Amino acid sequence: MTPLTTLTTEPLNTPPSLHCPECDGLLRYVRSYMSGTRREQEQWDVFGCTITCDTFEYRHRTRRLRRMTADEVSAVRVRNS
Ligand SMILES: [Zn+2]
Repeated sequence: MTPLTTLTTEPLNTPPSLHCPECDGLLRYVRSYMSGTRREQEQWDVFGCTITCDTFEYRHRTRRLRRMTADEVSAVRVRNS
């Protein structure tokens, strides 16, 4: 993530309702982070599987859901405190 990354639970774009790619259970929205230049902000939404398969992030620009690495998950958590 770039230094301009900011965490929020009230993102610009509404987080979508998604299902877990592993177990098809409903994903629980955790928080979002915004990153990029002032002109071009990108939004990612962080989701956790309710069965705790893993943590996933949804990138709004590409509309892709992908699994986060342990490092990425802890980075998101640390920056929020
Ligand atoms: Zn799952």
